[in-house]
Amino acid sequence: MKTFEYRAATGVGDGLEPGAMFLAGGTNLVDLMKLGIATPDVLVDVRGLVPDEITELPDGGLRIGAGVRNSDLAADPRVRTRYPVLSEALLAGASGQLRNMATTGGNLLQRTRCRYFMDATKPCNKHTPGSGCPAREGDHRNLAILGGSDACIATHPSDMAVALAALDAVVETSARRIPLTGLHRLPGDAPERDTVLDHGELITAVTLPALPMAATSGYRKARDRASYAFAVGSVAAALDVEDGVVRDVRLAWGAVAPKPWRARLAEEQLRGRPATRESFLAAADIELEDSRVLRDNAYKIGLMRNLTAWMLEKLAGVTR
Ligand SMILES: Cc1cc2nc3c(=O)[nH]c(=O)nc-3n(C[C@H](O)[C@H](O)[C@H](O)COP(=O)(O)OP(=O)(O)OC[C@H]3O[C@@H](n4cnc5c(N)ncnc54)[C@H](O)[C@@H]3O)c2cc1C
Ligand code: SF4
Repeated sequence: MKTFEYRAATGVGDGLEPGAMFLAGGTNLVDLMKLGIATPDVLVDVRGLVPDEITELPDGGLRIGAGVRNSDLAADPRVRTRYPVLSEALLAGASGQLRNMATTGGNLLQRTRCRYFMDATKPCNKHTPGSGCPAREGDHRNLAILGGSDACIATHPSDMAVALAALDAVVETSARRIPLTGLHRLPGDAPERDTVLDHGELITAVTLPALPMAATSGYRKARDRASYAFAVGSVAAALDVEDGVVRDVRLAWGAVAPKPWRARLAEEQLRGRPATRESFLAAADIELEDSRVLRDNAYKIGLMRNLTAWMLEKLAGVTR
């Protein structure tokens, strides 16, 4: 591993020098340093700087400090009752030990698990711009069917971020407020940039607006093993049904795109429609119309249709 300097952050604005990176729980960054993918000169430890509390907002929402641990966020009674989708998404991720270390800010900025990205000896446009994308012809079974480009088809691995995308969360940084759905970039021809953040821009908190319908929400994750595995597809949803008709819905998909994928086309299609499996499948089909599949990831089309219908039927109280 390359030699680096370590220091605790001295205040907001620390870590702006070239070669500096923020360290939080370290569960992703330190792994990438060991693999030679991340090569910071300086690690600026922000754990003593960013808030690690969950506080009430005047509008009935919550403000989650960037330093709040994933396990604490999942266990918070306000999150469990008002935003169960977030609690479920967190508990579907990683392991108890990892969640005890991982933070809200670090979870959002974890990097793709594309096997070529994780291997410094392989070409990859994300870790070495211009070197190519071997995944297109190689192992792309768990890569993107939506939002990818010729340069990169990596998927974003976070479960938590998918729930936050469905909940209209807003990211607060040292410089501005960014809707969660606008934090991560699609790769285009610059896949080395995962997010819109500038170098040295610190995530300080994530806010959740009051959303009464989120009390009826949930997360469903499909993966190759029953636990301790990243998603191959996931659905975060909140649903408001009256007299069998969808009044309102929030829907986001994970592991299908380079960013948490807010399924707005499906949401639009569903409002005012009967809360039935047929409507749910038809809405998923509309969202999937622009999908581009490769040799080994076409199964995600059927997977996302079924996960979406299953989750929405469950929330609608439809018995199967
Ligand atoms: C074996 C294993 C299995 C896992 N399984 C899952 C899974 O199933 N689902 C899932 O969602 N995740 C999973 N993870 C990933 C895990 O959730 C992340 O590693 C973790 O959330 C990262 O948080 P952290 O605080 O440790 O971040 P760090 O590793 O400290 O940092 C990650 C990135 O965020 C940046 N950063 C950190 N804090 C800030 C801040 N406040 N402002 C700006 N930048 C910041 C760092 O510079 C770095 O680039 C798994 C990880 C491992 C090792
Ligand atoms: S999909 Fe993206 S991360 Fe994976 S090899 Fe291609 S460029 Fe690299």
